Amino acid sequence: MIIKPKIRGFVCITSHPEGCAAHVQEQIDHVKSKGLIDGAKKVLIIGASQGYGLATRITAAFGSKASTIGVFFEREPNNGRTATSGFYNTIAFNKKAKEEGLYTANFNGDAFSDEIKQAVIAKIKEDLGQVDLIIYSLGSPRRVHPDTGAVHKSVIKPIGQSFTGKTVDTDKDIISEITIEAASDEEIADTVAVMGGEDWERWIKTLDDAGVIADGATSVAYDYIGPEVTWPIYTNGTIGSAKQDLRTTAKRIDALLKVTRGSAFISVNKALVTQSSSAIPVVPLYISILYKVMKENGTHEGCIEQIDRLFRTQLANGVAQDFDDDGRVRIDNLEMKPEVQAAVAAIWPDISTETLYEKSDMAGYKKEFLRLFGFGMKGVDYEADVNEALSLEE
Ligand code: NAD
Repeated sequence: MIIKPKIRGFVCITSHPEGCAAHVQEQIDHVKSKGLIDGAKKVLIIGASQGYGLATRITAAFGSKASTIGVFFEREPNNGRTATSGFYNTIAFNKKAKEEGLYTANFNGDAFSDEIKQAVIAKIKEDLGQVDLIIYSLGSPRRVHPDTGAVHKSVIKPIGQSFTGKTVDTDKDIISEITIEAASDEEIADTVAVMGGEDWERWIKTLDDAGVIADGATSVAYDYIGPEVTWPIYTNGTIGSAKQDLRTTAKRIDALLKVTRGSAFISVNKALVTQSSSAIPVVPLYISILYKVMKENGTHEGCIEQIDRLFRTQLANGVAQDFDDDGRVRIDNLEMKPEVQAAVAAIWPDISTETLYEKSDMAGYKKEFLRLFGFGMKGVDYEADVNEALSLEE
């Protein structure tokens, strides 16, 4: 079939298998161009098919020649409906990894469930024995709790008082004021249940109990802080509460892994266009201004550049890790530079629908958004008939 983007609000409901493959290849090429990384060799990535998790998997495999196990939740193609892009990304990753003789195993299912955890453990025992790096990179709107069966839905809301601020409708190119009511206590608790640390800790404890974590292993989860304009809705809001919980959990996991000379930490990453971030009000407008500022000063990075840098500077054998006062790695350091933040803050009050394309990199934002679904990639013929009904063969 001929596949074109179909955008509905902040998602694209189609994706292009060849475009996704080109996107994965671009990331592989980036890592390879930087040379080998002396890093972990048996890596489990939870949330491995898109955004930061996919970049992590690519970096571990093509930078360190690691065996990788990926867990993700993606829709397969069905009756002329395309798969979600993470499914095609994984097929492309798998093919390239196999060509280089690299081990891969894939679990397409709910990472929050105990079944997936047990299936992953069985696979590790069967094929790898143990893992020495575990990355937690889930971005999910809901979680079915494995003990209670309760469905927790994460919301993006401020806490304590309502928030009014600028946001952009990326579909219609309109900047407007948005008011979001404060979250209820239940909504806060639900968001923490989905995006907080409980499931990360459950993974680590379950893996540890099964004896599949190697001595000296590391675990990392991804976090975001960002600028003050997004704090009411992010850092000081429901998602921020979940991230606070993740940080507290990191300390407990660190203590657990330290028993066998391992460690756990949080990496604070840069704001980037991903399927998760595009759903957050205010953030896409900030990202499009940030992209303009960072592209102009030559410090712009995407997921693969961020994670490649994380591995080379914080996760390679023998490197001294660099933590902030709260014990986190700050790979968002270029985004948070005072001059970058000052430049964004200077643009923020003036930006309007009329000046959107002049004062921000909304054009770049949109291009990047489409690339998440495999559209707009160089060298891909989007008029050609392609087979969407691919399967993930092992
Ligand atoms: P993403 O939307 O690009 O990817 C999310 C991944 O989670 C996908 O692989 C998806 O398949 C998987 N997933 C979702 N629900 C699942 C489930 N129930 N079971 C198994 N897999 C599931 O997300 P992202 O933006 O890369 O975010 C990953 C992490 O990085 C999050 O913790 C996020 O807060 C953090 N982070 C993101 C940004 C950003 O700007 N995008 C910045 C800093 C930190």
